[in-house]
Amino acid sequence: MAAETARRQSGMLRQEKLELVTSDDIQPITSFDEMGLKDDVLRGIYQYGYEKPSAIQQRAVRRIIDGHDVIAQAQSGTGKTSMIALSVCHMVDTSCREVQALILCPTRELAVQTEKVILAVGNFINIQLHACVGGKSVGEDIRKLEHGVHVVCGTPGRVFDMIKRRTLSTRAIKLLVLDESDEMLSRVFKDQIYDVYRYLPPDLQVCLISATLPHEILEMTNKFMTEPVRILVKRDELTLEGIKQFFVSVEREEWKFDTLCDLYDTLTITQAVIFCNTKRKVDWLTEKLRSNNFTVSSMHGDMPQKERDAITQEFRSGNSRVLITTDVWARGLDVQQVSLVINFDLPNNRELYIHRIGRSGRFGRKGVAINFVKSDDIKILRDIEQYYSTQIDEMPMNVADLI
Ligand code: ADP
Ligand code: MG
Repeated sequence: MAAETARRQSGMLRQEKLELVTSDDIQPITSFDEMGLKDDVLRGIYQYGYEKPSAIQQRAVRRIIDGHDVIAQAQSGTGKTSMIALSVCHMVDTSCREVQALILCPTRELAVQTEKVILAVGNFINIQLHACVGGKSVGEDIRKLEHGVHVVCGTPGRVFDMIKRRTLSTRAIKLLVLDESDEMLSRVFKDQIYDVYRYLPPDLQVCLISATLPHEILEMTNKFMTEPVRILVKRDELTLEGIKQFFVSVEREEWKFDTLCDLYDTLTITQAVIFCNTKRKVDWLTEKLRSNNFTVSSMHGDMPQKERDAITQEFRSGNSRVLITTDVWARGLDVQQVSLVINFDLPNNRELYIHRIGRSGRFGRKGVAINFVKSDDIKILRDIEQYYSTQIDEMPMNVADLI
């Protein structure tokens, strides 16, 4: 426990050095006590184990609960999603059963995770919420929503479906949060978000949060936000010092498999996530490892939701230690024991790189990221390195000692 506290505190120290670019002079509030949160929410926060707010929480919580539109960026694992959870707990009026806050996330797993954090922090306020996600029973959604909830967190497709059926009443919604907002406003989700947005009341408060907020995303925010408070991280501050990044040259695709087998003992020191770029490759790699007697789990978006849930649960509980997956796992998911991320394939863009490696090193913990690079991948890796002003060295022999 003492080690855990020390680790957390060293994490805090790393964050305090952060240079944040804010749109006005934001004084950090360095304790939860001074944020003006409801007593029962404070109790929930402390009971959940938080002692001190992180850098982003120190700056953004007050703005959010004061009702400002907020664009908040901070490194992966520094408490952005948790910050939404505690702000929402403070903001909802639990004396009436109407949906007052809507949190949209890119994956079902992330929506469910956020639901759990809100429930935990809101332990003393009788908050009712529902994770409204695809792949689950529509009947159950209807039952929960008609019973009345204060908060909905969900994925855009199912949420819109519930709005159209008039099962999810938007009348009293005051706050819209887009977690992983650059993904939510990307080509994949933009139209769906707009569909939902059109049904929301005009005096809506909007909050965007993400570790990555590319320029083109920031540029479009004036279309649906009013004088947002912007708390942004400089690009060269975006990679966490706690996550060491390495590469292994494999020359050819065929060599990746043997390289991974050589690393298996390292993978299982704590827990590891291995990213491939396609579902097919996830299936192939899983099969191949299993037929070589390695124990691994795998998950991707073509699996039935029941199976996805079971695998996620198994991994969260530590019963499985190695997860092979696609970018469905790249953003937001928080498993504190993950200390190693392997990019079996390099991600297709720079933002995904930050999110993938950020599955390790949660809240100041140590992490290691290992990139498998074929000869023609080296250029891409160098580009990432330069873009974030970070360092990606050749993997040392003693990599296991760093985990
Ligand atoms: P992000 O959304 O920025 O990636 P999360 O909100 O998922 O980060 O938080 C990462 C981890 O840190 C979670 O396990 C969360 O419970 C923990 N955490 C968040 N805020 C605090 C805090 N103030 N003190 C201790 N742990 C925290
Ligand atoms: Mg998050």
